[in-house]
Amino acid sequence: MALSVVLAVAVWDAADWRAYRDERAGVAEFDGGLNRHEAEARAFECCLSEWLCQNFQTNEPGHCSECGVVESDSDRLLPYGDAINGHTWLHSECWPAWYAHRRHAAIAALKAVDDLFKDEGVVLR
Ligand SMILES: [Zn+2]
Repeated sequence: MALSVVLAVAVWDAADWRAYRDERAGVAEFDGGLNRHEAEARAFECCLSEWLCQNFQTNEPGHCSECGVVESDSDRLLPYGDAINGHTWLHSECWPAWYAHRRHAAIAALKAVDDLFKDEGVVLR
């Protein structure tokens, strides 16, 4: 795997994550019309997205962040990310595995920070 950097934008503690999750669940339930179970599942997905943004992984262009292979004319890398947080460079076929690893890291981090997330889904997409 190529050398990469994880940008820590903010450091939220358990109370921050709990407040964010509760707020997202409330919006999904009352504004979005979801039942409580669906709203909590949606809120967990929002927490995963937020964690991924707060812990965005970047790497230098030229090496795939997932497989580490050097870019070539026949094996191009694509940037994933934005101008503010930077980019992770990946082969298009490496993106699903990279994303699955990042999502798994987010789930583990959220479970480690608060028991609130201990029963949340571990489905890797
Ligand atoms: Zn790759």
